[in-house]
Amino acid sequence: MKKIKIDDIRSVVKEAYEKVKTMQGGKNANYIPFLAKIDPQLFGIALCLPTGEVIEAGDTNYVFGIESVSKVYTAVLVLRQYGADEILNKIGADATGLPFNSIMAILLEKDHPSTPLVNAGAISADSMVKPLGDSNGKWGAIADNMTALSGSTLVLLDELYKSETATNFNNRSIAWLLKNYGRIYDDPDMSLDLYTRQCSMGVTAKQLAIAGCTIANGGLNPVTKEQVFKEELSPKITSLIATVGFYEHTGDWLYNSGIPAKSGVGGGVLGVMPGAFGIAAFAPPLDEFGNSVKAQAAIKYITQKLGLNIFRNNNIDFEM
Ligand code: GLU
Repeated sequence: MKKIKIDDIRSVVKEAYEKVKTMQGGKNANYIPFLAKIDPQLFGIALCLPTGEVIEAGDTNYVFGIESVSKVYTAVLVLRQYGADEILNKIGADATGLPFNSIMAILLEKDHPSTPLVNAGAISADSMVKPLGDSNGKWGAIADNMTALSGSTLVLLDELYKSETATNFNNRSIAWLLKNYGRIYDDPDMSLDLYTRQCSMGVTAKQLAIAGCTIANGGLNPVTKEQVFKEELSPKITSLIATVGFYEHTGDWLYNSGIPAKSGVGGGVLGVMPGAFGIAAFAPPLDEFGNSVKAQAAIKYITQKLGLNIFRNNNIDFEM
């Protein structure tokens, strides 16, 4: 069993912040006009422990666009509503190996939309959210689930929502192509709108870290103490994150960092170290693959410094 002092975690988070703060490189996402305008200097790290303590450095209370990290939340919601097997059958759990918004991936894998953590699977997941046919009811379920995972309410960034709605032509094609293949389980336009809205939610690094810890902690929110989902769903959601959290560069990320994490083009990254903590970092400039440069560096630094890696020896004490 590995022993880690909480004080060491506090120092490592501070160190990571200082080291990464001045790092250069990357550019804000520019295909969504709202995101292009966000201050590129913003940077924050939050790490939430199962005790409910959140260790923070930098801009951890700045509200930014959650974007693709919202896919993790809605995946949890449909897992809660339908169970693990039905999600595997209706959506899937495979990496596409292609970009997050790939039309090609849908054409190649006609039998299912791959995973709830790429655009196609996420729109499909939104179409599955109950109560079916009721846009307000579905949105209520999506927003309540976000609150439960993060322990506080996320707010819709209206300007971002308008900005995305005005420019989401590719996602519109995805929704209708999925309909063509029978993988949209409600109205396609409604499903797309719910997806666009969930991506436009404002979140803080602190809220993301708490959601990450709820997943790391078997569904028990460490701050509110609410059991948000059944423990058995925890490895399912973590495996989805591990498989495709950085889209077609997920393998490189896992190989280098050893922690399943999900990135979003708003500059946020949420990481899950099962049984240990949830971690989030936020900084708008992205690398060429759409992942935050500083958030990746900070999370990698912290897990490496603490010597944590989900692929390490579990130190099992066998009984004869
Ligand atoms: N709303 C964005 C889109 O659908 C999210 C993409 C992302 O964060 O990777 O293009």
